[in-house]
Amino acid sequence: MKAIKPKFEEMAHTLNQINSGIEIVAVTKQVDVDRTQEAVNAGIRHLGENRPEGLKLKHAEISGEVIWHYIGTLQSRKVKEVIGLVDYLHSLDRMSLAKEIQKRADKPVKCFVQVNVSGEDSKSGFSPEQVPAFIESLKEFDKVQVVGLMTMAPNTQDEAQLRTTFKGLKELQEQIAAEKWQHAPCTELSMGMSNDYLIAAEEGATFVRVGTALVGSESEAER
Ligand SMILES: *Cc1c(COP(=O)(O)O)cnc(C)c1O
Repeated sequence: MKAIKPKFEEMAHTLNQINSGIEIVAVTKQVDVDRTQEAVNAGIRHLGENRPEGLKLKHAEISGEVIWHYIGTLQSRKVKEVIGLVDYLHSLDRMSLAKEIQKRADKPVKCFVQVNVSGEDSKSGFSPEQVPAFIESLKEFDKVQVVGLMTMAPNTQDEAQLRTTFKGLKELQEQIAAEKWQHAPCTELSMGMSNDYLIAAEEGATFVRVGTALVGSESEAER
């Protein structure tokens, strides 16, 4: 597999030219501990995992100043195992999960509310119409801090469709931020993956979640 450091530096440079302050979350769900450590040694600070097992393993084994992101669907019964290890949860996609976090967390968890902007059946998350009422209803949840919104764009090369999705999320984020709810500053946008992170950045992403294009994947290593 290709060295991570030059790739990361090039990516950071490109993103910085679009907008300063975009954070790159390296999604390490498809690579092992050694490759993950290489990412941290290359200067990457934000790591993303989408399974409790992967998060626990990497959290125990990786050395360095890491900010941990949980990016996948989180089953309620797994919350107690991982919530203390997570700095950012990108996948707050239902009320029952918020309730479980409220019950299990010792300190406020920075959460992104996941929005299904494109409306695909296969995607989890709230429909855009549901988001304001859901976030407002989290007022009493002092362990859930809504830092922003997250979406996954359709798996397509159709740039217009990608832009429409990202613009939709940004519009909603601005609408929520304008409410100035104390529990929901909602200033951040988690959007963009290997296929579409540059477009997401151009549309206002503040966190991009990049796996394959940055750290590779195990299946790629076998080829
Ligand atoms: C796997 C995953 C990513 C990264 O995907 P790549 O295409 O490998 O960059 C980003 N976000 C979520 C929610 C994921 O599950």
